[in-house]
Amino acid sequence: MQNVSKFQAITQCKCPKCRKGNVFQYPWIRLNKFSEMHKHCPVCGVRFEVEPGFFFGAMYISYAFSVATFIICGLATYLLGNNPEAWVYVTVVIVVVLLTFPSSFRYSRILMLHLFSGIDHEPDAVDKEVKHKN
Ligand SMILES: [Zn+2]
Repeated sequence: MQNVSKFQAITQCKCPKCRKGNVFQYPWIRLNKFSEMHKHCPVCGVRFEVEPGFFFGAMYISYAFSVATFIICGLATYLLGNNPEAWVYVTVVIVVVLLTFPSSFRYSRILMLHLFSGIDHEPDAVDKEVKHKN
């Protein structure tokens, strides 16, 4: 059986339990639907929202991504633009935050799932009743 590392499961947005099922329903490029998640894993049936409001915690991870984006964009603008005027910094940061919003949203939830949900990896987890749940 193919072994998927935790790192691969995170980068590919897979279920923390079986590491095979997709957490999100559509590829991120479907920009109108990038945020729609499966309620249960399509492969093993684990419920992703382990408690009500679980994903509110993802906002803190998303916030950390935003701060990192501000710092990286600020430094890059300063170095590449030879310390331009303030509006250039603001424009660069806004554009980059908008462009990275879908991946920031997704990876904050994926990290929340993999690091804080308490769902352990079970390589052989399969749910036969999964079709009734989704
Ligand atoms: Zn699963």
